[in-house]
Amino acid sequence: MLNFKSISYITLLTIIAIAVCSISKNCSWLLILLPIFLWLFITIIGSFSMRANFFLKSFTSKKLIESKKIAITFDDGPHPELTYTILDILDRYNTKATFFCIGNKVEQHPEILKEIAKRGHCIGNHSYSHSVNISFSSKSKWLEEIHKTDAILKKIIGKAPLYFRPPFGVTTPNLANALKETRHTVIGWNNRSFDTVIKNKNLVLKRIINQISIGDIILFHDTQPNTPYILEHLLLHLKQHKIEAITINDLLNEN
Ligand SMILES: [Zn+2]
Repeated sequence: MLNFKSISYITLLTIIAIAVCSISKNCSWLLILLPIFLWLFITIIGSFSMRANFFLKSFTSKKLIESKKIAITFDDGPHPELTYTILDILDRYNTKATFFCIGNKVEQHPEILKEIAKRGHCIGNHSYSHSVNISFSSKSKWLEEIHKTDAILKKIIGKAPLYFRPPFGVTTPNLANALKETRHTVIGWNNRSFDTVIKNKNLVLKRIINQISIGDIILFHDTQPNTPYILEHLLLHLKQHKIEAITINDLLNEN
């Protein structure tokens, strides 16, 4: 599989070959721009695709042989109203999910985090600030974001999370280096609801159901007003098809 290291290595070799050619056979030096632009293009694509495992290894789904299970995840909370509504829906369908929480929101609503944990759901780290430019952070800034959120979560629920989900699903070499130190397991998704983008809730539901397969990790946001409706109808669909939704922790240990 091509990753950042192999692409950089191939690019470097290509540049050396072009340099040698331009000295010995009068190739144009301008040809060097070609591998550089290609490297830049692939690196940008790679940083936006967690499934490519370009900078770091992440789990975006699980191949299951024996069981009909998937994992539902919620990002960007806790939210003062919607998270409770979502917790109640999950309870009604006797379903456990995973919540990737933002540190500064947890500081504002520690009681919601306690409730998520009390109801048996899995909790992951989704950075402290989730700022729009967080993907450009240095390694030390990433460490600060991750450690700060771990400490807040640990203070409230008694244990630091094992899992981290990068904001916006964007990965970079600095984040990869930070995660090597913090040793979190990185969780992505392979079934994105687009609940933050598509405002037609039935369309969102249809998209998820059409592409659902066993072992999926589905991405929702417990900050979107349409999410409770979509979740309830998805859980109904799963029940009809005898598919169980479990936490990320359980999915990783499932066969
Ligand atoms: Zn997010």
